[in-house]
Parts: sequence; C-alpha cells; structure tokens
Amino acid sequence: MPIDATQGYDPENIFAKILRGEIPCNKVYEDEWALAFHDIAPQAPVHILIVPKGAYVSWDDFSASAPAEEIAGFVRAVGRVARENGLVAPGYRLLANVGADGGQEVPHFHVHLFGGAPLGRMIAR
Ligand code: AMP
Repeated sequence: MPIDATQGYDPENIFAKILRGEIPCNKVYEDEWALAFHDIAPQAPVHILIVPKGAYVSWDDFSASAPAEEIAGFVRAVGRVARENGLVAPGYRLLANVGADGGQEVPHFHVHLFGGAPLGRMIAR
C-alpha cells in the first residue's frame, strides 16, 4: 500500500527497525549519515537502497527539514555507494518514490540505486 507522504514519521517502519538493528539487512555501506543495503526484491541486477540515519518520511520531508550537513552527507554517501560498486562507468539510475503517485511503500526516506544492465525507459508505459 502506498503511503501518505504528508503523515508524521512512524518509528516502527521497517527501515527504522533495520537502522536500529532489530531486523537484519544485507549491508553494502554505512557511515555517519547513511546506511545502504540490498533491496529484498531486486528489480535490476544491482538494486541497493540508501537510507539516511535521520528520521524522515520522504524526499519531501528530508529536503525541507534536514540540516545542510546531513543532506550533504547523505548525497555523498549515495554517490560513494554507486562508485564503490563500479557503477559510474557503465552508468546507473537513482529513484526516490514519494507518496501515493510515486508508489512509496516504506515511510522512511530512501533512494533506490539501480544498475548492472541497461535500465530501459524512465517510466513504465
Ligand atoms: P518504495 O516503494 O520506494 O517505498 O520501496 C520500498 C522498497 O523496499 C521495495 O523495493 C522493497 O522491495 C524494499 N524492502 C522492503 N522491505 C525490505 C527489507 N526488509 N529489506 C530490504 N528491502 C526491503
């Protein structure tokens, strides 16, 4: 079920539980600002999720409310994960779903990193 991106942060969401170590993940990278792990249902040969450590519902919440240092740390982490996974030369795609029309299902901001093959059109038709 897609979420309502205008709602408040729910600390019981699944990515919050992963960040607290209550649920395992297949970790790819971690630093002060971000945790990256493999998506449980990959939609490309490489499908990594990068989540900020702070409690933000969506891109909307993060872009409006996160301190500049946290935004910079997170953006650098996303770039680093792509680089360290050898995706710059072949290329990759980033995606952030927001709310119902975006199809966002987990109410903790995350960026999808796809790669490992040509990814086709930006939006399914
Ligand atoms: P979104 O629709 O942008 O909210 O995407 C949520 C993503 O989280 C989906 O691609 C799911 O496959 C993925 N996902 C859900 N639960 C887990 C989990 N426990 N570990 C890793 N990925 C998950």
